[in-house]
Amino acid sequence: MTTTEPTADPTVSPPTGARRDTSLVGRAVRAAHIARHVDPEFDTRAADHRRTAHRRALAHDFADAHGLDAIDVIVTDDPDRCYGTWRGFLITITDNGQYFTFLPLPGTDGYYLILGPCPGCDRPVPLADASDPPALGRYLDAIADDTEPPHPAEFNHDPAHAARCPATRHRRGHTA
Ligand SMILES: [Zn+2]
Repeated sequence: MTTTEPTADPTVSPPTGARRDTSLVGRAVRAAHIARHVDPEFDTRAADHRRTAHRRALAHDFADAHGLDAIDVIVTDDPDRCYGTWRGFLITITDNGQYFTFLPLPGTDGYYLILGPCPGCDRPVPLADASDPPALGRYLDAIADDTEPPHPAEFNHDPAHAARCPATRHRRGHTA
């Protein structure tokens, strides 16, 4: 797996100046702001019709799962995770000025993990299942109660952790 140094923290607040405008131009400008924030290489990534189709399908599936409008679901390339030669995707929602970013696991049917700061290294890693409202609500309740939600298996193996993150139990040889 190709491991790259994380270049953005999708769990921090959205950039100021991102307009909430429902016109075509307003939506496009706001979506591009969010995409740049999550994926710093957004402006230089080449178009790829296969990836466009995947992004659109993910946006609709995630919107269906959480009762959102697909137009408000921003799907970008994942700057931190590749699966073989296939770069992953991230899904980002803004809600009352707060970012929520989700990792759709390739090869699964609607399994979404929410990214948040690792308790060991503070990098954005998958912290909990957020595939449907109850799962997301469980995570949000845990955060509100200042407790740790049950981490998914993917937590331990996520490439966004710092090289010697103390929170992971099964770190593989880190070559990056
Ligand atoms: Zn970590």
